[in-house]
Amino acid sequence: MPRIRQLSQTVIAQIAAGEVIERPAAVVKELLENSIDAGATRIDVDLAVGGMESIVVVDDGCGMVAEDLALAFTPHATSKLTNSDDLFHISTMGFRGEALASVGGVAQVLLQSRPLGEPHGSELRCDGGTLGEVRPWGGAVGTRIEVKHLFYNIPVRKKFLKSTATELGHVCEAVTRIALSHPALHLVLRHNGRMVYEIPATANLADRIGLFFGKEIRDALFPIASPAGPVRLTGLIADPKCDRGNAKLQYFFVNGRWFRDRSLGHAFQEAYRNLLRVGRYAVGFLFLEVPPDTVDVNVHPTKAEVRFRENSVLYSLIRSTVKARLLGEQLLPSLHVPASPPRGDDEDAERTPPPPKYPAYPSVPLEPIRVRPPEEWIGPRRSVAENTPAPWEPIARGTQTTIHEPMSSEPADAVVQAMQLPPGLPLPTMLAPGAVLQVHDAYLILETPDGMQVIDQHALHERILFEQMRQRIREGKLEVQRLLIPEPIDLPAEHAVAVLEAKEALAELGLEVEDFGGNTILLSSYPTLLSRKAPHEILHAVIDELTAKDRPPAKEALLDHLLATMACKAAVKAGD
Ligand code: ADP
Ligand code: MG
Repeated sequence: MPRIRQLSQTVIAQIAAGEVIERPAAVVKELLENSIDAGATRIDVDLAVGGMESIVVVDDGCGMVAEDLALAFTPHATSKLTNSDDLFHISTMGFRGEALASVGGVAQVLLQSRPLGEPHGSELRCDGGTLGEVRPWGGAVGTRIEVKHLFYNIPVRKKFLKSTATELGHVCEAVTRIALSHPALHLVLRHNGRMVYEIPATANLADRIGLFFGKEIRDALFPIASPAGPVRLTGLIADPKCDRGNAKLQYFFVNGRWFRDRSLGHAFQEAYRNLLRVGRYAVGFLFLEVPPDTVDVNVHPTKAEVRFRENSVLYSLIRSTVKARLLGEQLLPSLHVPASPPRGDDEDAERTPPPPKYPAYPSVPLEPIRVRPPEEWIGPRRSVAENTPAPWEPIARGTQTTIHEPMSSEPADAVVQAMQLPPGLPLPTMLAPGAVLQVHDAYLILETPDGMQVIDQHALHERILFEQMRQRIREGKLEVQRLLIPEPIDLPAEHAVAVLEAKEALAELGLEVEDFGGNTILLSSYPTLLSRKAPHEILHAVIDELTAKDRPPAKEALLDHLLATMACKAAVKAGD
């Protein structure tokens, strides 16, 4: 029978540390929060190898006196809380007194600090929980913390760390969350000596959002504000045309702290109901101010989850405030048949269709019309879930279409020739082809013996490109166009790292990339088949895929995925 034993302090400390610190991003988050609590106006973060080698955070905050350095590394020692009542009036980011003790237990830490008014500062090392001696330090007012070799003493945990790009990506996300909730803070993030973010203090949240997420989103933001009351919602929400394939760009903050909450995320999505296609997500930055005693941020060591006393009040507040704003912008979609096919997977599919060339659909005998779901003849799709309604559904409804089971896929040569399509592709049956009619610059209509077929030209072209490229890659005959002058492409740091990590896979797809220094990469070739699109556009689409959370880990699947992305990007669009 196993007997019960008291765990050693070292093991207790490591278990506790594991709850707060799971990866470099968690260290960065905790250190940034400490600097903010110390009243810093500027914070510099320097990482090496995604933060796994080292993390250095320097702030210009209030600093610490020499006697407090050892306490800072002591578990449950904090300057921010004195009694349990304070727990319900928390106005600081930290309060558990756990972070530095945890970090000190699982890394080699050097803490240096000088308070305002002192002639010099002091420093103290903490190596895997073992404290060194307090010594004088000659730095500026503020605090500098160096965290080296995270998990050096816990090899099991270290194994769970991912690639440099992934870890850097998590750090960038942590910095983004802090930056969005503290616009007056000047923040600098460098990785391996290169600048990642230089974010000056600003009074304007929209500008800051623009820095992180680009001009497209910045220019499509509407401010929101609920009426004054005990609970208040402010923030910026984006026009539904800036939709995304996941909810990553839905940021929620309560009393200045980022948090995650499925139900409030749902409220936000609900406000956009009917404005978004299935499987698409709105973009928004929502800031809740609630009385401190109505929110419990002490649910989870990392404080990522919070508990509200009145969740349903917040749910309705978010839904109604956002919805009212959207209605005010008259963004409701009109109900007529769209001239451009709504597409589930393409960020830049045209949304305002060109004016139709024909006043109405031509009057053809409308007996059974066979509409093939595009999914049947295009390659793997990206973000559209299996069971989402096919994108052509509005058309099917609007024109009394009957849908039959899929037809055989022998192409009729004449049509194939007429459409200048390569032979041998799995196209819909087109017996006795008559005229091919293009409507709304988006659909091809073909006569068949018992009706007609409507083809989404983009889906068709995408499928063709996908099959051609895949076949040529298999045969090792993919034609590659070398760029006379390699194209330099500036990328966010974590994307640049991701691209270089995927260098070999990309080369197989005909995209040759090279490190050009800074966060710039050089693109020197691209597949000839995709020459309709500018090479950098193809690369950007591929990067979106590479940095997506749910990307397939296996190389084969990743290649197919990227291939589909490239084909989609390069295929003709509605209006072409
Ligand atoms: P908490 O933030 O929950 O209090 P931490 O372990 O993160 O716990 O920090 C312990 C204490 O160390 C803080 O309460 C604060 O007094 C001090 N401290 C930590 N970082 C800084 C900093 N950058 N500037 C000034 N004081 C700091
Ligand atoms: Mg803290």
